[in-house]
Amino acid sequence: MKKMLRVDMTNLTAKLEDLPEEYSGLGGRGLTSTIINREVPPTCEPLSPHNKLVIAPGLLSGTGAPCSGRLSVGGKSPLTGGIKESNVGGTASEKLAHLGIAAIIVEGQPNNEAFSCLTITKDAYSLEHAGELVGLGNYAACERLHNKHGEKACIISIGQAGEMRLAGASVAVTDMEGLPNRYAGRGGMGAVMGSKGLKAIVIDDSGAHPRQPKDKEGFAKTARALSKGLREGKGFFEQLRTLGTPGGIPNFNAFGTLPTRNFAAGCYEHADKIQGAAIVALAKQRGAKMHGCTASCPIRCSITFHDKDHKFLVGGLEYETVAMLGSNLLVDDVDAIARMNRLLNDCGLDTIETGAALGVVMESGYIKFGDSESAIELIQEVAKGTIRGRMIGSGAVITGKLLGVKRVPAVKGQAIPAHHPQSNKIVGVTYCTSPMGADHTAGIMYDNTIHNPEGKVEKSRDMQIQMGYIDSLGMCMFSSRGLPGYNDYITALLTALHGTPYTEADLIALGKRVLRTEHEFNERAGFTQAHDRLPEFMTEVKIKPHDLVFDVPYEEVDKLQEGL
Ligand code: SF4
Repeated sequence: MKKMLRVDMTNLTAKLEDLPEEYSGLGGRGLTSTIINREVPPTCEPLSPHNKLVIAPGLLSGTGAPCSGRLSVGGKSPLTGGIKESNVGGTASEKLAHLGIAAIIVEGQPNNEAFSCLTITKDAYSLEHAGELVGLGNYAACERLHNKHGEKACIISIGQAGEMRLAGASVAVTDMEGLPNRYAGRGGMGAVMGSKGLKAIVIDDSGAHPRQPKDKEGFAKTARALSKGLREGKGFFEQLRTLGTPGGIPNFNAFGTLPTRNFAAGCYEHADKIQGAAIVALAKQRGAKMHGCTASCPIRCSITFHDKDHKFLVGGLEYETVAMLGSNLLVDDVDAIARMNRLLNDCGLDTIETGAALGVVMESGYIKFGDSESAIELIQEVAKGTIRGRMIGSGAVITGKLLGVKRVPAVKGQAIPAHHPQSNKIVGVTYCTSPMGADHTAGIMYDNTIHNPEGKVEKSRDMQIQMGYIDSLGMCMFSSRGLPGYNDYITALLTALHGTPYTEADLIALGKRVLRTEHEFNERAGFTQAHDRLPEFMTEVKIKPHDLVFDVPYEEVDKLQEGL
């Protein structure tokens, strides 16, 4: 991958550039964050023409390596005001890699409210007016684009929330079934895409080929061994394969990390009704199945879910969504959760951010905890652009301010995901210190010590470094969890791909470099350690079931950046 596609949304032009030498060895998050740090003024308004949306496949994407199809979407976040990378499955990463495109840089802004679509093929790049797609949700927009460009094209799109530049807006990517079932949800990247006047990107890689490793035989041998390990792995991998990500709910409930009643507790009395086994049983009854979000995934953890009439709703009913729209709202009805999920996918809002915003709405008493029908009505208002819809679409912090709510679970303006930091103190440190704001994908770990405050800074730092390189490789984070010799597989793949030795030390150096780059941007944007804090209630008010507060001393938390 030696090219970057620079898309100027002011003049509606696109041109291919050589990837500068200084970017070589970077992909995915490493590349999006480096480009943003170099090219975006850190104090700019996130929705202004000065911000950029950068989209990059991972270093291993397009090679066929197992679980290597994650796509990074980055920019300055309208939620946090800091640097952001959100990564997503689907087919875009592999197709861009096949086309030799290491990054798409979307810059500038139209002088009017017009929206355009960008089409990328093997030989051409074009922008045209989005026409009748404007105002459509992701599902209808993708259907029309597939009718025009063929079923095999991959589509990256925004729904109405992105068009309205709401800070909780996501970016959708179509999966192997051609549906917009995968989301770069965190950080409001959909709002940045909307601010550029870009409704969709169509990627057609017809005539292009998978990337060819220098050592084909060595690469194929390692890829086969890694695939076998992931496909046949026991424990966590088996749970993912059979129960999907909600398979973790019984454990999270016992650990006290399942957000409940707007994070007022870490366990839910009806957790059994929303756990993976219950969801998968219901999904199978209705003819749905487990599937993979990328072609290269041997784990296939995503649960397709249909409604009572066997009509398709979502292609991935994930843990974070189930917890934030379920236990967090005291909703134990999987059908209601899946309906909310579908509506949020269609209008293009992050289920974590909006689940937290709805928890805040319920905390205010505006609607009652457990009232899923009122929550659904509220979500339906997003696409209509009402003030109520725009409120929840703007995230938990704005919703809390508008309704005068004191308990708002957020760090640096971004909602806390579905791993309660009062009970998992490793992820609590990550929420405080990650340049991404509260984001579990920035560094999460479970072990039997999570309740204890000691040693959590070191564990969070190690996980953040690991995610720095995993996200840069385009690997799914689940593939890295507990497979013996994982880093050896990855270094063997990179060595065979490039024909030059790649070591574990190189991986760690890459992870640290990514984090240093992101912290540099945030510091120039005005962030200090004073921003590396959880909401006060999380350090002061104990939660059930283990009567815990977040009690890792902040003087220790402030040392996390040492050693990066
Ligand atoms: S393990 Fe799950 S999330 Fe990861 S690539 Fe496979 S299907 Fe996607």
